[in-house]
Amino acid sequence: HAKSAGGNRYQFYSESLNRNAIRQLEVENLIREGLRDDLFEVYYQPKIDLKSGKMAGMEALVRLNHPEHGLIPPGDFIPLAEENGLIVEIGEVVLRKACFAAQKWRRQELFEGRVAVNLSSQQFALPDLQQRIESILRLTQLPPGNLELEITEGTVIKQPEKAIKVMMQLSKMGVSLALDDFGTGYSSLSYLKRFPIDTLKIDKAFVDDIDKSDRDLKMVDSIITIAHNMGLSVVGEGVEDASQLSILKALKCEEIQGFIYSKAVNEQAFTELLRQEELLPCSVKKQKKINL
Ligand code: C2E
Ligand code: MG
Ligand code: MG
Ligand code: MG
Repeated sequence: HAKSAGGNRYQFYSESLNRNAIRQLEVENLIREGLRDDLFEVYYQPKIDLKSGKMAGMEALVRLNHPEHGLIPPGDFIPLAEENGLIVEIGEVVLRKACFAAQKWRRQELFEGRVAVNLSSQQFALPDLQQRIESILRLTQLPPGNLELEITEGTVIKQPEKAIKVMMQLSKMGVSLALDDFGTGYSSLSYLKRFPIDTLKIDKAFVDDIDKSDRDLKMVDSIITIAHNMGLSVVGEGVEDASQLSILKALKCEEIQGFIYSKAVNEQAFTELLRQEELLPCSVKKQKKINL
């Protein structure tokens, strides 16, 4: 129906459609190349326990490290990979690499917490999901208690009853479950009660302005209260500044993740972080000033 809007528009529309299609093909080719040549790398970002100030765990975040295009962030290829199903293969690579790395750090006695891996809707829907995860845990020898899977509201809300069964299976295996990006999807509080999850991750969008907006502060305060009443532990995502950090601490948020402690870094750099006596917060505003 673009045509009925006028000849010029039609052309414009179809050109941009073409460009989109070409871009999609390019990205799909990059993904296939990445899988073939093992170009997917896992970066790690620490999660800090606010009571002790120590690292409680880390999140595995995928990047496509391309010889020509450099480091490609997940936002550039995950959405397409979700559409064409390649996310399943990418996800397996990430899970395998993250479990290997975590088990290596455990053996070196650098770490005893949990590594969190994002699980896409497509992976979550696999009939043999449990077997796939079990076989990676066997291969890497990582105990299930040291693995956490992050799933988003969107993944579980489509077929909540089925999702609850899958989550029960995973939970029985001893794997922890976190609800990621909480508050951005169609969060239903009534389901929250029935999901066998351990942790709720409050999306960065809510954390961004807790130090500036009273409404945002009240919102986060309420989310944390509800989570605690449900027996869930809370992670604040995307913490960049000291003021946000101290507010989340005051609200009894258990853990935070954010640039204030560290961005996601590659395996080697993360090993160095683990070797450090302690991680110190440094606000992003301050980091920017230092870089001037
Ligand atoms: P996510 O799972 O919510 O991961 C957190 C994202 O927030 C990461 O972006 C992280 O780098 C970013 N972040 C953390 N702290 C800060 C901060 O203080 N400031 C800012 N500006 N950003 C912060 P990243 O690595 O680009 O990943 C984006 C999204 O891509 C992830 O969001 C997740 O949805 C998806 N993703 C990443 N890796 C995987 C994967 O292996 N599998 C799947 N299915 N999705 C993945
Ligand atoms: Mg996540
Ligand atoms: Mg998140
Ligand atoms: Mg996100």
